Amino acid sequence: MVEKKDIIIIGGGINGVAIAGQAARLGLKVVLIEQNDLASGTSSKSTQLIHGGLRYLQQYYFSLVKKALHERSLLIKMAPHLIKPVRFIIPYYKESALRRLVIRIGLFIYDHLSAHKGLEKAKSIRLNVAPYRPFFKKSIKSGAIYSDAWTHDSRLVVEWALLAKQYQATILTYHTILELTEAGSGWQVVTEDKFSQQCSTYKANILINATGPWVEQFQKHYLAEWPTAKLRLVKGSHLVLKRELPDNKAYLFECADGRVIFLTPYEPGYCLLGTTELEYHGPLDDHSIEPAEIEYLLAAANAYMQTPFERQDIATTFSGIRPLLDDEIHNAHQLSRDYQLQLQTSVKGNSVLTVLGGKLTTHRRLALDALILLQKIRPCWPAIKDETIPLPGSDLLDEVQFRQDYSFMPMPVLSRYLRCYGTLCLFWLRGKNILADLGIDFGAGLYQVEVDYLLAQEWVKSVDDLLWRRTRLGLCAEEIDVGRLKEYIQRKNVYK
Ligand SMILES: Cc1cc2nc3c(=O)[nH]c(=O)nc-3n(C[C@H](O)[C@H](O)[C@H](O)COP(=O)(O)OP(=O)(O)OC[C@H]3O[C@@H](n4cnc5c(N)ncnc54)[C@H](O)[C@@H]3O)c2cc1C
Repeated sequence: MVEKKDIIIIGGGINGVAIAGQAARLGLKVVLIEQNDLASGTSSKSTQLIHGGLRYLQQYYFSLVKKALHERSLLIKMAPHLIKPVRFIIPYYKESALRRLVIRIGLFIYDHLSAHKGLEKAKSIRLNVAPYRPFFKKSIKSGAIYSDAWTHDSRLVVEWALLAKQYQATILTYHTILELTEAGSGWQVVTEDKFSQQCSTYKANILINATGPWVEQFQKHYLAEWPTAKLRLVKGSHLVLKRELPDNKAYLFECADGRVIFLTPYEPGYCLLGTTELEYHGPLDDHSIEPAEIEYLLAAANAYMQTPFERQDIATTFSGIRPLLDDEIHNAHQLSRDYQLQLQTSVKGNSVLTVLGGKLTTHRRLALDALILLQKIRPCWPAIKDETIPLPGSDLLDEVQFRQDYSFMPMPVLSRYLRCYGTLCLFWLRGKNILADLGIDFGAGLYQVEVDYLLAQEWVKSVDDLLWRRTRLGLCAEEIDVGRLKEYIQRKNVYK
């Protein structure tokens, strides 16, 4: 049976799901096809910042910074449980008056471009006092502090997919495309579920290629006769380190080579250090951090640290591939982080929209721009509004009351629920009065009710989906009965 849709979206990263969410909300019929798990590509490998990008001011990308700062402000309202303001400190490494002036001017412009009046403005800060004194080297005496925001990237992706599902979008994960053809007036795609081997066929007039770094590969494979898009692929790696940061602040470090890196809070007890930027030509499905990248990141951070980070502080690492617009002029560090939408229509009247580049921060605007562009060839579509869309889980919650209502639960578990899920956790907590009501205890605060919710509602198909992209419990995997969890997930998925 062929299911008729308005749009077929390929790719379940942040850009694919945001387009799916906004299109479904308009009342359009959408199918999204992801070859692996949601956010299994670049969208789970970011620095987790929802930011304007202070450093892009150096390259004069003012309009991108302004757009991203506007988005930051909207996203904090749309998902306050997932996107939190955070104060960033720039320690003055070189105590040169000129350098300080440049940073202060940059921060003044950054604040000025920001639409969010609620965030604290930039100012100077002393760093030769507690809690910064034993953290930084003695030579670091002062710095500047400014506001930005951070998130849990893969959960942001999942929550957009949940929004799309609420509005009847079909979200297919772990689906391989067997065939993609222009069948008369429409695209026809045949997909196969990697687990059940079941095939499904969908037809739509509009195809969206939102495959991030795979864009060119997808185009060459399925749309060989269409003009190709041009991207530069840049690999970025991060270290997850076992250390708490003072005062839960984030840090921006200037490196000797003129780049900047971030040291940000991560899960309790851990911080995140990144990123590197290396031109990448290798396989997209198989890449990891190189020893030289580890050396680079540790050395760059340790230029500031009183107690240096050592290799044994590394809990885990991850690498992602940025799909950047290729201007054939700039190096990886200087290339624009903006996006381009390429709309092409064949003689048969079928259209392909290709998403090129972009940042996690600008996904909402990118999705809106994509629909505005498509509406030009589909004037019958409902009017598209630029509005704040609350993401699932973002409803107001009285945190004190919540902790009282579920006081039988360990506090760190409740805190994790709030951080990861917002009010979505009420889905499995309502009506539970004692720990035994939560079912199997897999360890590290992971109970059966949460696993059941993730399997039924959030497309979890494997242990990795659960431990690394829906939660970050992978960091305490040794406390979890992973074998039992794997067996449980397999059994539940078979009976679906
Ligand atoms: C190291 C690093 C740090 C970053 N930090 C930040 C940051 O702090 N803030 C910020 O705003 N941005 C950041 N970014 C940028 C941001 O992460 C990316 O712009 C964004 O995640 C790209 O999303 P996407 O949806 O385009 O691509 P992806 O997330 O890669 O999604 C594409 C999806 O398409 C799927 N796919 C591919 N081929 C097929 C196929 N044939 N069939 C079905 N599915 C397919 C893939 O499996 C993948 O899931 C960072 C990027 C990197 C690499």
